Amino acid sequence: MSLKDNLNNIKNTLPENVTLVAVSKTKPNEAIMEAYEAGHRVFGENKVQEMVQKWEGLPKDIEWHMIGHVQRNKVKYMAEFVSMIHGVDSLRLLQEINKQALKHSRVISCLLQMHIAEEDTKFGLDFEELEALISSGEFKAMQHIKIVGLMGMATFTNNENQVRKEFKYLKTVFDNLKQKLPNISILSMGMSGDYGIAIEEGSTMVRIGSSIFGARNYT
Ligand SMILES: *Cc1c(COP(=O)(O)O)cnc(C)c1O
Repeated sequence: MSLKDNLNNIKNTLPENVTLVAVSKTKPNEAIMEAYEAGHRVFGENKVQEMVQKWEGLPKDIEWHMIGHVQRNKVKYMAEFVSMIHGVDSLRLLQEINKQALKHSRVISCLLQMHIAEEDTKFGLDFEELEALISSGEFKAMQHIKIVGLMGMATFTNNENQVRKEFKYLKTVFDNLKQKLPNISILSMGMSGDYGIAIEEGSTMVRIGSSIFGARNYT
């Protein structure tokens, strides 16, 4: 099947309230243009430098989402154009995003990344850290970031019950956070292998790469 078929098949299965971020990391501009010409505008990358290069070479109405872990010294390169940063897991990173957004007179939408997987290699906040972050005076003072929701990655496993349990937990944290931050609306969870479960558990934004663009080749 063509890339366009993959994209349309996935879009047809998504509920209306679920946004698709097409994860184009490692894929060339031509592949992104194929999806673009099929009408898609929202793309996700996990490396700042790669996203900047793609932004420079591609149509300016593309919405770029940074879905990977972000180093603070890289924020300045994307502050001008990034439309959402998914992997925010510290106050210091948020402060840097705020500082760089101010330079461009922007307000950058951010998702706080929660650690929900069993693996300890994945980034993210635990519940106590989330609470501490949003209650801090520094957090409340920032004018150029907007927390729009939460992001999480489930354990990489075939055990569906495990994955479901982790997504359920993230949804509970999201509902709880909404009492304190009533404007949050986005729950970013679900990738090629698990987005069906994620949607059943309340995801409103899925990040899908290989099921659209094909397997990635890292060599
Ligand atoms: C690569 C990546 C995805 C997409 O993964 P696929 O399995 O190819 O759909 C989603 N989220 C994050 C954070 C990623 O790094």
